[in-house]
Amino acid sequence: MAYIGRFAPTPSGPLHFGSLVAALASYLDARANQGRWLVRIEDLDPPRTAPGSIDAIFRCLEAFGLHWDGEPMYQSLRQDAYQHALSQLQQQQLVYACSCSRSQFVSNPDYSCNCRQTAPSSQPVAMKVIAADTRFTVQDLILPPQTQHLAQQVGDFVVQRKDQLFAYQLAVVVDDAAQNISHVMRGSDLYDQTPRQAWLQACLQLPQPHYAHIPIITNTQGQKLSKQNLAAALDLKQAPALLSEALERLGQATPCNFRQAPVAEQLAWAVEQWDIKAIPARKQDPIAFA
Ligand SMILES: [Zn+2]
Repeated sequence: MAYIGRFAPTPSGPLHFGSLVAALASYLDARANQGRWLVRIEDLDPPRTAPGSIDAIFRCLEAFGLHWDGEPMYQSLRQDAYQHALSQLQQQQLVYACSCSRSQFVSNPDYSCNCRQTAPSSQPVAMKVIAADTRFTVQDLILPPQTQHLAQQVGDFVVQRKDQLFAYQLAVVVDDAAQNISHVMRGSDLYDQTPRQAWLQACLQLPQPHYAHIPIITNTQGQKLSKQNLAAALDLKQAPALLSEALERLGQATPCNFRQAPVAEQLAWAVEQWDIKAIPARKQDPIAFA
């Protein structure tokens, strides 16, 4: 199987150091395996797309020398593919309409949805997929294999929201298959969700890529760097030093005085020396600099 990797940012704001580490890991693993590296813009929720942020993501990747192959994919243009997948699930009677409101779940932690048993209301409904009533194990190239009993531990989950937007779980599975992704290397915040994606792949008869989850970069309070907690945008003028720092986060031993080397030189070296086994097998990595 030809290696095809991908970086899939959400354009809700500028890329930060955590995004750089994720992009770099997937880029290096693809290039070290003579693979292709694709970009997918996860603009599933267009109102959340910050103006100008998609262009800023492309400029940022270029400034770090992370050149992608082919044309980027945009989730906002993929509604027909997601609708088709939902129809496939409907034909197999694997989905049902749920009219529960978010506030019902929020106000009562023990609230359980009975919509699978009851007729759908005339209210706007979300579509939920029936979780596998069995144990599910997904292998990981960095973290331990993960076993979940989806029905008991996760329950049925939403594949299309009440506002008609398709859920991330469905979109990511459909898009990984459409782009023939063989290897998904991404932040460990998505590790727990992988069995759900594996279940959808099984339901839709899609191939399962290899998964590799890298430590997410957190702030000093242990929160994942994100726009919500005001992670600083990457300073493109500091690209060589930041790239070198990102390589160190991935456990790759960099030569002395590497921080001043041009990004192209750092990347060429890193592809040559790439060692996936050196990536720390942990879920989090607190940021060490401001
Ligand atoms: Zn419900």
